[in-house]
Amino acid sequence: MSRYFSGRFQTLTPYTPGEQPQERRYIKLNTNESPFPPSPGVMAAVQEEAKRLQLYSDPECRALRNALAEFYDLAPEQFLAGNGSDELLNFAFMAFCDEDCPALFPDITYGFYPVYAGVNRVPFREIPLEEDLRFSLEKLESLHGTVFLANPNAPTGLAKGREEIERLLRSRPDSVLVVDEAYVDFGAESVLPLVSRYDNLLVIQTFSKSRSMAGARLGFAAGSEDLIADLNTLKYSTNPYNVNRMTAAAGVAALREDAYYRANARTIMENRCFTAEALRKLGFTVTDSKANFLFACCSRIGGGELYRKLKERGILVRHFTLPRIDDYVRITIGTREEMEALLEETAAILEEQS
Ligand code: PMP
Repeated sequence: MSRYFSGRFQTLTPYTPGEQPQERRYIKLNTNESPFPPSPGVMAAVQEEAKRLQLYSDPECRALRNALAEFYDLAPEQFLAGNGSDELLNFAFMAFCDEDCPALFPDITYGFYPVYAGVNRVPFREIPLEEDLRFSLEKLESLHGTVFLANPNAPTGLAKGREEIERLLRSRPDSVLVVDEAYVDFGAESVLPLVSRYDNLLVIQTFSKSRSMAGARLGFAAGSEDLIADLNTLKYSTNPYNVNRMTAAAGVAALREDAYYRANARTIMENRCFTAEALRKLGFTVTDSKANFLFACCSRIGGGELYRKLKERGILVRHFTLPRIDDYVRITIGTREEMEALLEETAAILEEQS
């Protein structure tokens, strides 16, 4: 830290992203990317748009917001595009939390939430998950603050149904509920259709996972026109051209080729089912994940050790050195071949242990 770094941030612990190794090729099952390339239309749109890189992108992202509005049957004013959903989550912490309105989220969830609270200097409270890593939304009903709910949750993959979330919305009409649906396309229920009915609901989604665009950085928020206007105030106060030309064009093309992405999501769900079953046969406990990853632990080997041994064998998974989940690894679901390689190496590692 330099001696010039503002005192405001001296105790800030930044987010640690998953490894993105550049030196060696791994089977990469550590950052929940899609194993499938973008669709042909997306690649063509990027190439075409690259011809106009000398011009700023449309700060209003009109073409993309119109396409989102048509796709989800809402109004363009109910959408805001972001530089990844991370940017929009940051805006939501900035917009809807302060000294009098803390952020509320589970103690085990997306690791960026406490960082956003920290960088925006807003208080937060972590609500403990149950012993089995499930989250009881009832615990939130009597608490004051803005709730951030990853659904499915990360890294557990456990999902809440629409009715339960709707009950929470109704029980707290004066507080905003932010539902982070980064992984919703892999078998969970989206609450996006509810944004016209509840003016306290903000839904945030990403093109990084089910739409194979992690490297393009595109997310969007959907909510009432008023909530979206608040986020826009912050966007225009930080970075009006937050979504670059190629990414915005890629987003429009991806929505057009939805059938391709839906088929890929189905394949990932099948591979998830196959991998979970095989891991259970090897003695693992695996959560009932509705995301493109599994969260698994085995009494025969610690999470950190399994992570290291898999890495030695060319497979990257994610391990979190956090109190309640230290025994677990999070495994992104890849192609069938990648999952077979993971299972083979895992079985060999367990064999070595005994
Ligand atoms: N929310 C959750 C729960 C995530 O796991 C991620 C991916 N790290 C994000 C949001 C951010 O995704 P992106 O910024 O790539 O849209």
